[in-house]
Amino acid sequence: MKKRLAAVLTLLLAALLCGCAAQPVSSQSFALDTVVTITIYAGGGEAEAQAALARVDECEALLSAHRQGSDIVFLNGADADENVLVSPLTADVLRAGLEIGEKTGGALDITLYAVSQLWDYKSENPQVPDEAAVRAALEKSGRGRVCVEGNSVCTGGTQLDLGAIAKGAVGDEVIACLKEQGVICALVNLGGNILTLGEKADGSPWTIAVASPFGEGYAGRIEVGDGKAVATSSGAQRYFEKDGVVYHHILDPETGYPARSGLALVTVIADDGLTADALSTALFVAGEAQAARILEEQYPKVGAVLIRDDGSIRILGDVCFTEEAGA
Ligand code: AMP
Ligand code: MG
Repeated sequence: MKKRLAAVLTLLLAALLCGCAAQPVSSQSFALDTVVTITIYAGGGEAEAQAALARVDECEALLSAHRQGSDIVFLNGADADENVLVSPLTADVLRAGLEIGEKTGGALDITLYAVSQLWDYKSENPQVPDEAAVRAALEKSGRGRVCVEGNSVCTGGTQLDLGAIAKGAVGDEVIACLKEQGVICALVNLGGNILTLGEKADGSPWTIAVASPFGEGYAGRIEVGDGKAVATSSGAQRYFEKDGVVYHHILDPETGYPARSGLALVTVIADDGLTADALSTALFVAGEAQAARILEEQYPKVGAVLIRDDGSIRILGDVCFTEEAGA
């Protein structure tokens, strides 16, 4: 009881100090093909949350491969040797995507647009694409062909798909936008890419549930502190089934087909959204053994939860994960 009173007082004090609402304020929009929720606990309210959602919209207008006028739509229509000027955000995200592609041995490839468009998960009656079509689309990919210098980008004839990193990158922009406005405690959720800002009023860690990749319910929960990003890539997030085979949306850049690495889900905990998002996709593709090596050699501060196809779990790095009883 005493603890709860202290927590309420702390929240009230925070509210008084920064003129924010004592109750958390939550605002939602649909962007980047997913639901975006911003919950502010201290240091702001509805106006700050709306400003952050407006920032999400601005980012989507630059990074989406499906929104007319975006940098990516422009790049995907450019000639192979054309130098296109893009916004600083797009250039930074491309640079980061290429670097993580390099550090993960090609498991992350931001040039898979031609291939990913063949896999129409949203169709009422999705079809497995023709092998020759997949091969031809794969010919158009290759992260080594993309060149970014300052804000000038040359695609080398590839087409870009930032689906594996955009939500995380935009999450980082949202956190920056909230901080600029004086927000000190908030939770940002971009379709399962979760970012924390500040400590909870009662000092307890943020608890983030990990949905089971095998159906209803949860596999477990992760506890994190201030300034963390938690991203999940799972075959169950987007898929279709044909003739008893599941085809999900995480592609092996070597084959153009859904990655079959023995993993059903990867959750990554990092210090920024882009890294968490990019690595959750990349480690899913890389598989357990390579994932462990990539984190150890390239990202020693990053943690991950791997759920294997048989349901067993492996933790990499320093992660506070509690498995759901009976999961
Ligand atoms: P995520 O849900 O973050 O794992 O990202 C998956 C999305 O990224 C897919 O829907 C594709 O648009 C794209 N994608 C799929 N496989 C890859 C890959 N190996 N590297 C980069 N992007 C990918
Ligand atoms: Mg990702």
